Amino acid sequence: MSLAIDSQRLLSEIEALALISDAEPPAVTRIVFTPTDLRARAWLIEKCQAAGLAVRQDPIGNMFARWAGSDAGAPMVGTGSHIDAIPNAGKYDGVVGVLGGLEAIRTLQKSGFRPRNSIELLLLTSEEPTRFGIGCLGSRLLSGSISPEAARKLADNDGQSLEEVRRKAEMHGELEEVKLPPGYYKAFVELHIEQGPLLERENLALGVVTKIAAPASARISIDGAGGHAGGVLMPERRDALCAAAELILAIENAARSSGAIDTVATVGICDVFPGAVNSIPSRVRLSLDVRDTNLDRRNAVLRVIDVASQEIAAKRRVPVSTEMLNADAPADCAPEVIDALSRACEKHGLSFRPMISRAYHDSLFISAVAPVAMLFIPCRNGYSHRPDEYASPEHIAQGTLALAETLASLSA
Ligand SMILES: [Zn+2]
Repeated sequence: MSLAIDSQRLLSEIEALALISDAEPPAVTRIVFTPTDLRARAWLIEKCQAAGLAVRQDPIGNMFARWAGSDAGAPMVGTGSHIDAIPNAGKYDGVVGVLGGLEAIRTLQKSGFRPRNSIELLLLTSEEPTRFGIGCLGSRLLSGSISPEAARKLADNDGQSLEEVRRKAEMHGELEEVKLPPGYYKAFVELHIEQGPLLERENLALGVVTKIAAPASARISIDGAGGHAGGVLMPERRDALCAAAELILAIENAARSSGAIDTVATVGICDVFPGAVNSIPSRVRLSLDVRDTNLDRRNAVLRVIDVASQEIAAKRRVPVSTEMLNADAPADCAPEVIDALSRACEKHGLSFRPMISRAYHDSLFISAVAPVAMLFIPCRNGYSHRPDEYASPEHIAQGTLALAETLASLSA
């Protein structure tokens, strides 16, 4: 079997998909179930069908494009990622795993290889939390990491329910049908840009992911008392933003003093109400994101933050309430998939190292129902989620080649 990636075709498809966007190039904005996202999906389905793949979509819009293997009863070998993009993002995050997965399948077809296990390309819905406030919606439902009832309670930033939005997008059926039956996948591999600087710094072609860090996220509401910026004297104040400021620094400190470099905590949103120059902030909403590769350590940080919020609330007489949105466990990748990836790299003379994924991905959730691993390619300066995100044609082709080889060995 000799594998030759059509790098030209793959790159031109990455460029073409980047133009299906709500932002001016080179930026990419593609929010789930917007007309733009639906156009991108239709474009992708056409490409999959042109490759002879049988396409189906589930009720949350996860797309499965299957290359039938010779043993119809054997479990699938899956690959894929997402194509939704946060506002003002780049063109490679997620896309490399979807279009690289498609190219890997086409490369195997052209080589004459015929799989025993069917190979399935997955497009996973709403990996980014932009619209519904929760990431990896498609893979959470696939793996049962979120219940259909909980998912039905989700609404977007305009107050439209997930049910409404997905039906408008013509995703039919009930969310109960999304969860995969046990043993559906023999293995799942996700190709992705690293979104960090290590591979580039070490001049390596690929990273084989052995662990995926666990995110926990919460919405924090701080309710103080508003009033006139001139009229209310300092001793009387219950300023919600001052309390938020103290809490944000306590959060930073909790992560810094966890004892491990792997602990990170971020407050990325601070909404201030009423937001007027001469009005005391009466209400603040914060977002909290805490990640770690170790569940106990991350939970310990969450407890420290909780104690700090209670202390600040008592001292400043402003109630602070925290609503946990998700607190997922980290994933260990499957040894047999890690092995298949490592052997594929070795076979093609591609330099690689084992590594930890510090961003979370759909694979984190799929790991609950399938043996998974991920393959990272370098991205320039580690930049991601910004318009100047960049992965070289050479690295994209090498990642796709290693992916093709891995899919072949897992499905033979
Ligand atoms: Zn991604």
